[in-house]
Amino acid sequence: MTASIIDGKAFAATVRAKVATHVARLKADHGITPGLAVVLVGEDPASQVYVRSKGEMTVEVGMNSYEHKLDMDVTEDALFALIDKLNNDPAVHGILVQFPVPAHLDEGRIVAKISPEKDVDGLHVVNAGLLASGGKAMVSCTPMGCLMLLREHLGSLSGLNAVVIGRSNLVGKPVAQLLLRDSCTVTIAHSRTRDLPDVVRQADIVVAAVGRAEMVTGDWIKPGATVIDVGINRIEAPERGNNADGSVKMRLVGDVDFASVAEVAGAITPVPGGVGPMTIACLLANTVTACSRANGLIEPKGLTI
Ligand code: NDP
Repeated sequence: MTASIIDGKAFAATVRAKVATHVARLKADHGITPGLAVVLVGEDPASQVYVRSKGEMTVEVGMNSYEHKLDMDVTEDALFALIDKLNNDPAVHGILVQFPVPAHLDEGRIVAKISPEKDVDGLHVVNAGLLASGGKAMVSCTPMGCLMLLREHLGSLSGLNAVVIGRSNLVGKPVAQLLLRDSCTVTIAHSRTRDLPDVVRQADIVVAAVGRAEMVTGDWIKPGATVIDVGINRIEAPERGNNADGSVKMRLVGDVDFASVAEVAGAITPVPGGVGPMTIACLLANTVTACSRANGLIEPKGLTI
């Protein structure tokens, strides 16, 4: 293996420690405690796990965590009334509605209802627009985590060729905007891209955000390139044996075939333990930033990009 491993778990811990330091300072110097409100609709088991772990980490860094659990069949009006209340609550600096929501609710309308200043997920069109136009945006958490890892590993990204595979509003587009802001030459690839392996072979930086298990293989990679694997895919792992109910055990893999890519790349993020832990760390960072901005205070160093 030639590639060094970019340890997102360790770097995320340093980001959370910086958040905790800033939170302690806000409390000591200004008597302010940042607060993050998370809204969960329904009882999707995976979402419950995410919400619980976000709540635990929020408390761990010294912030207030407010969890709101709504019934599966909650009306849009009732959900919007709660979001309005959180928008107007000075103790709440960040609001996150856990997606996916049940089919009768519209994610786009929900995001639009959140005040852009409290949109710590960075999904509101105002924040997307600010990012695209070079303004002071709330940057969505996973793209922000990718950029932090790249800067930490490479230092300056200026002049590098970057290929982002995926063009979602959640990951692909904001990652591309951030890379452009750091003066990369950026190509955004997607399902209609011709000769994708050839396009990827030009890249000094590859960000894979596709949702297809182990799609990017070593022969697509320019020797020495830095590879950021955003994908989270569950695949069958017969080598791990069966569960008690006889079903095959599963394991997590990224969009990158780790074994073959690690033979060629200069550096690579693992799955799990790469981009994933950075996402929650950046959510906490955005909440403390939103709190500082709401109170007209200096923004925390090293927690914005
Ligand atoms: P989307 O499904 O919204 O977008 C996937 C993108 O990949 C689309 O732009 C699509 O192109 C493109 N694509 C699909 N198939 C191909 C292909 N064969 N070749 C090239 N491009 C292709 O996914 P997300 O952006 O929301 O998420 C991407 C991955 O990242 C998922 O695995 C998700 O689980 C993971 N993720 C991880 C997070 C983390 O914290 N680590 C957070 C968020 C997501 P087109 O537009 O043409 O359809």
